[in-house]
Amino acid sequence: MFKAFLIKYGEIGIKGKNRHLFEDALIHQIKYALKPVEGEFQITKEQGRIYIEALSEFDYDDALSSLQCVFGIVGICPVVLKEDEGFEKLAEDVAAYMDAHYPDKKKTFKVDTRRARKSYPMTSMEVNAELGGRLLEAFPELKVDVHHPDIMLHVEIRKKINIYSETLPGPGGMPVGTNGKGMLLLSGGIDSPVAGYMIAKRGVKIDAVYFHAPPYTSERAKQKVVDLAKIVAKYAGPIYLKVVNFTDIQMYIYEKCPHEELTIIMRRYMMRIAEHFAKETNSLGLITGESIGQVASQTMQSLAATDEVCSLPVYRPLIGFDKQEIIAVSEKIGTYETSILPYEDCCTIFVAKHPVTKPNLKIIRRSETHLQENIKELVKTAIETAETVVVQADMDSY
Ligand code: ATP
Ligand code: MG
Repeated sequence: MFKAFLIKYGEIGIKGKNRHLFEDALIHQIKYALKPVEGEFQITKEQGRIYIEALSEFDYDDALSSLQCVFGIVGICPVVLKEDEGFEKLAEDVAAYMDAHYPDKKKTFKVDTRRARKSYPMTSMEVNAELGGRLLEAFPELKVDVHHPDIMLHVEIRKKINIYSETLPGPGGMPVGTNGKGMLLLSGGIDSPVAGYMIAKRGVKIDAVYFHAPPYTSERAKQKVVDLAKIVAKYAGPIYLKVVNFTDIQMYIYEKCPHEELTIIMRRYMMRIAEHFAKETNSLGLITGESIGQVASQTMQSLAATDEVCSLPVYRPLIGFDKQEIIAVSEKIGTYETSILPYEDCCTIFVAKHPVTKPNLKIIRRSETHLQENIKELVKTAIETAETVVVQADMDSY
C-alpha cells in the first residue's frame, strides 16, 4: 500500500556543520542496504528528512527489514506523499488513507499537523480541527483522543504533503563511515561478531582478520567465519576480511614455549599481525570480543599482556557484558545460529589444561625470546600469504 518511507534520524541531526557528511553517509548506507531488495528506489534529502520512494513495484517487507539494519536510522515511517492540491483534496486523501490502513474503525485518533511551509493558508491547529471533523463525519465509529490515541495521524505540509501514522524502529547509532575504520579480530564464536556489530553501530567501518590453522581447522570453520562476516556486513557494509594461515606460528609456539602460556603468546601474535594489517589499511584501532574474566585469556592480567604488543587502541565493546547479554545481542542481529555451529577453532586445538590466568609479563616476554630464531620469518610469511575476501551481505557464495 505504501510507495515511500520517511526516514527519521536522531543523533546525526545534532552534529552541526558535519550534518551533511552524516546525511550523505546515511544515504550511502541506505543505498547499500536496498541494493539486494527487489525494486527501484529513489532517495532524496529535504530539510532534515530523507525520503525513499519506490519507482517500481518492490518487496515491502524486504525493504523494511533492510532499512532496519542501517545504523543512524531511528525511525522508519511508511508514508503517503501527495502534491498540495488544496485543502479539499487533502481532506479526501486523509480519509482515503484512514480507510485503507484501518479497516477496523473502532479506534481513537488524533491529527497532528506540522507546517514546514508557513505559506500554507491554514494554521496547523485549523488543519487539525478541520481534518478531525471530516474524519468523524466520514467514519462515525472513530473517536478523538488527544492524550493516548490508538492512531496518531501525522500530516506534514512540506514540499509534498506527508501522511503517516506508523513509525517502525530503526537500529539507532550512527551511519557507518562517519567515525573512521577499525580492524575486527573475527573468530567463529559468539562474541566477536557482536563486538563488530557494536563498534559499527557507532559509525565505524569494519575490516576483519581471521586466523585459521589448517589442517587443524577445516574449510568449514573458515566458511563459518565468512558467513558470520556476511551477516555483520548487512549492518556494517562490505567487509575486507584477511584470512591468515596461523598454523606454523602456532606449531612453533607450541614447540618452544611452556604450554600453559600458549594461549597468551598466541593471542599476542594475533594482535601483532592484526595491527600490521590495521596500520597498512588505515584502521584506527583493533576490536575484539573479549570480556573480563570470560576465559583464562581474558583476565585483567591477560588483557594487559595482549595489549602490551599493540600501539593502536584495542576496543572491547563487550568488556562488561555477561555471556547471556552477548547471546541476546547475537540473537537479535542474527549471528547466533551460525556462531553455535560446531566447527573447531584454532584457539581450542592446542589449548592447555591449565592455562595461566595471571600471566606475568616478564615471564611471557622471556618465553617469547625462545621464538627468536624463526618467528620474524613466520610472521612475515603469514602476512604475505594472507588471503583477502571481500565479504558482501548479498554474496551468494564464497
Ligand atoms: P569468540 O567469542 O568470538 O568466539 P572466544 O570466545 O573464542 O571468541 P577467545 O578465543 O578468548 O574467545 O578470543 C577472544 C577474542 O579474540 C575473540 O572475541 C576474537 O576477537 C579474537 N579471536 C580469537 N580467536 C580468533 C581467530 N581465530 N581469529 C581472529 N580473531 C580471534
Ligand atoms: Mg569469547
